[in-house]
Amino acid sequence: MRITALAGGVGGARFLRGLLHHLERTGDTDAELTIIGNTGDDITLFGLRVCPDLDTLLYTLGGAVHEGQGWGRADESHHVAEELVALGAQPTWFSLGDKDFATHIYRSQLLGQGMPLSAVTTHLAARWGLPDRRVTLLPMTDTPVETHVVVEQGGGPEAIHFQQWWVRHQAALPAERFVVAGLDRATPAPGVLDALRTADVVLLPPSNPVVSIGIILTVPGVRDALRGARAPVVGVSPLVGGRPVRGHADVCLETIGVASTSEAVAGLYADFLDGWLVDETDPMAGRTRPVVLARPLLMSSVGTAADIAGAALGLGRRLAAKGTPA
Ligand code: GDP
Ligand code: CA
Repeated sequence: MRITALAGGVGGARFLRGLLHHLERTGDTDAELTIIGNTGDDITLFGLRVCPDLDTLLYTLGGAVHEGQGWGRADESHHVAEELVALGAQPTWFSLGDKDFATHIYRSQLLGQGMPLSAVTTHLAARWGLPDRRVTLLPMTDTPVETHVVVEQGGGPEAIHFQQWWVRHQAALPAERFVVAGLDRATPAPGVLDALRTADVVLLPPSNPVVSIGIILTVPGVRDALRGARAPVVGVSPLVGGRPVRGHADVCLETIGVASTSEAVAGLYADFLDGWLVDETDPMAGRTRPVVLARPLLMSSVGTAADIAGAALGLGRRLAAKGTPA
């Protein structure tokens, strides 16, 4: 069974860790998982290329993530960052730990030697044992792209890097729109379109629908591949009780003029979504198009995330058995 998933950072990684746990506890050792990760969050800091969503996926699936934060390494120290502050280096608002720095140094070294990001990511994934678990992590594209946010800063509209808006300003700076710099030159990374076309089930974890999943969908060819996929596409709502569980997805949705409801989020995927998991308290529970399954959607532990992922996969399998709706 081939499973392909699109993913951002924390929400995507926790869901996919749950999925692997589900596959292991049900003895489904034949399943292969291909993850298409968002690279719109990528940023160059201190001359190093940082890919926050890919790293969150690697650390979480590799069992090395800082559980409380949901990103970065557990048992981390911050000597390099402290020394950078002492040197007066900028910026100081993006936290990078010492072990995490090693990832960015190695990635930047390989990129500097001309290796594409997808091949670099394969090297990093080996460090975390992903191939042994039949997991492939692909960046959505090898082309450097960056999500920028157009904000009103007094002197007129200005585009700032997504991380500056999200991390430094905590999404509190009124945003007009999101733009993906470099997208006009971007092509899907090798394997991305094939993974969508040949999948038995495609899963959309509860990642941010605008700045994680939404950005992956803007890579030329990805949305068409989802529309044309023979596999059912099953998504999980990131909203519980009408609010994002963490982060500022509601602010992102408002920026693009979409309501913070599971129904409106499903509407963003309407042209390819076959199944949709919503929280048991969601007003969409009981709806039949797309096929809606209501479940407790709070991933409070690996076990609960495994239950959610198992339910999403089960729905995908049932839809596949019936024949994917055209
Ligand atoms: P980021 O790149 O680190 O922001 O992570 P993602 O884009 O992958 O995921 C962020 C989204 O995950 C947010 O919009 C959250 O609402 C959602 N999320 C986080 N934890 C949970 C959870 O326990 N349940 C559900 N349903 N969604 C969650
Ligand atoms: Ca992200």
